[in-house]
Amino acid sequence: MMIYETNSPEDTFRLGEEIGRNASPGEVYTLTGDLGVGKTVFTQGVAAGLGIAGPVNSPTFTILQIYEEGRLPLYHFDVYRIGDVEEMEEIGCDDYFYGDGVCLIEWAELIEEILPKDRISVTIEKDLDKGFDYRRITVDRSGI
Ligand code: ADP
Ligand code: MG
Repeated sequence: MMIYETNSPEDTFRLGEEIGRNASPGEVYTLTGDLGVGKTVFTQGVAAGLGIAGPVNSPTFTILQIYEEGRLPLYHFDVYRIGDVEEMEEIGCDDYFYGDGVCLIEWAELIEEILPKDRISVTIEKDLDKGFDYRRITVDRSGI
């Protein structure tokens, strides 16, 4: 388990970028943390690290956004608005979870029951005592 501390969105972006540069086919990253903590900023870094040039934002009305122009496909899920896990099954999530791209799942805890056990968990937390822009980012590669 690795713990990183960042003090700006740029730092968090760069951490994501580093992870994106080193990501392997089939990796699934779960992103856990409150609204506005930096899950999307982290994802934008991963996308850049994979060589994806275009803008990456949280898909507001779709659960999944696919980017194929990088070194590996990026499957960016934001399941914040999901009703139930059947919606995930309808979009064929297993094809992505067990495919050859990299999955990043914002609000993954909402779909815990259908997540692959082999996954990398990224938890982002604030600590207001350490400043408004401080984030503690825990990357746990041990799966569950
Ligand atoms: P989420 O996807 O978790 O809801 P976003 O990534 O969309 O959150 O937004 C994070 C917000 O927090 C952005 O406005 C960003 O500028 C700000 N921010 C401040 N400090 C940091 C930091 N250290 N890391 C990431 N984002 C930060
Ligand atoms: Mg987001």
